[in-house]
Amino acid sequence: MSALVIVAERLIDGTGRDPLERAAVVIEDGRITAVGERSSLTIPDGADVLEDDDLTLLPGFMDMHVHLASSGTNLVRILMTPASLALLNSIPNSARTLAAGVTTVRDAGHTPVGVRLAAEAGYFPAPRMELAISLLSQTGGHGDDLMPCGARVGLTMNVDVPHGVVDGVDGMRRKVRQVLQAGADWIKLCTSGGVLSPGDLPDHAQFSVDEIRTAVEEAAVVGRRVMAHAMSPAGIRNSLLAGVTSIEHGCLLDEEGIALMKEKGAYLVPTLVAPGDVIEGAMTSGGLPPEMIAKAERIGALHRAAVSAAIASGVKIAMGTDAAVGPHGANLRELGEMVRCGMTPMQAIVASTRVPADLLRRPDLGTLAPGKLADLVAVRGDPLADIDSLADPAHIRLVVKDGRVAYDFRNRSAAQPSSVSSPRAAS
Ligand SMILES: [Zn+2]
Repeated sequence: MSALVIVAERLIDGTGRDPLERAAVVIEDGRITAVGERSSLTIPDGADVLEDDDLTLLPGFMDMHVHLASSGTNLVRILMTPASLALLNSIPNSARTLAAGVTTVRDAGHTPVGVRLAAEAGYFPAPRMELAISLLSQTGGHGDDLMPCGARVGLTMNVDVPHGVVDGVDGMRRKVRQVLQAGADWIKLCTSGGVLSPGDLPDHAQFSVDEIRTAVEEAAVVGRRVMAHAMSPAGIRNSLLAGVTSIEHGCLLDEEGIALMKEKGAYLVPTLVAPGDVIEGAMTSGGLPPEMIAKAERIGALHRAAVSAAIASGVKIAMGTDAAVGPHGANLRELGEMVRCGMTPMQAIVASTRVPADLLRRPDLGTLAPGKLADLVAVRGDPLADIDSLADPAHIRLVVKDGRVAYDFRNRSAAQPSSVSSPRAAS
């Protein structure tokens, strides 16, 4: 494979350092071999040189909370979608995510291992992915799919996804082993209530510290870690005391929780766009009961205040969106939201590149330097001057994953629709 060189007006390397002007990156055999000012770099013979007007080069973005096999929150549509179609919707969902500049995701539940294996086999364009597979919940908790009518629905397809309801220490031990057997890279627990569960409130704690600790211990046996959907102060505290790695959403995070997060070195994955996406989805496609919309409305403002306090206190923050609640491929809206909660644009970029790489313990990802895997994005314009420009697909020009050009949008004008197809609902 011949070398690939990308030349750009500026380069943001993901470490938080000032941008490099008139830069270039050299890629060979899937890895970055040189980064620097263009005038100082030797371009290998026969290299493909890609350039465009006003480009900024960045590391591929990393979204630490998506659900690739889920598409929307409309309960009626979910009930009317065959499991096989819901599973196949992972294909356009993955492609849209990659086309948006997200080259790595952590999937927080409902996506079976076959999706990752098929993506790795090259069946369809997709970000690299780590999967939680099942969403573990206590009886009646956030992930319990027993509806008030008495039907157990499975809020998405359940092909190769072990059922996630579990109680007690022994039950947890067995269930975690079962989810690991199904191919999980992460164990996802619901340690508080949530917005899209009919029987609880975000303010409730779920699972005992002993149950959570059992999951952490069982996962650690095979080098895996735990991510916790945790909104309530007690749910967050229980999760941290038990040793989880990341707190998802953290909507009601309080001062005690912030102090404990710092003490434990835990990561917060805010998903700031999620409450607004719940409301937007309900307004545009319907299918959600008013009590869930009311929960999203109440949690939204509290969530922003909690995340702003966490940012001000220096909690480690990794970008995540809960894509599936909102559209797939609109992930980079989250950076603007993080800035509106107090980050600088550079901090928001680092929280979406280097910090997630730390969270995944993947030092070969998240920054642009010689020896790193060549996952990069080139965007038009300067995201440090306009962070929201990243969320506009018309600004994404090139997406490179594993050293190969996955998407080249340099000839796409703002008016042209995306070439990436949308997920289907059953009609
Ligand atoms: Zn989620």
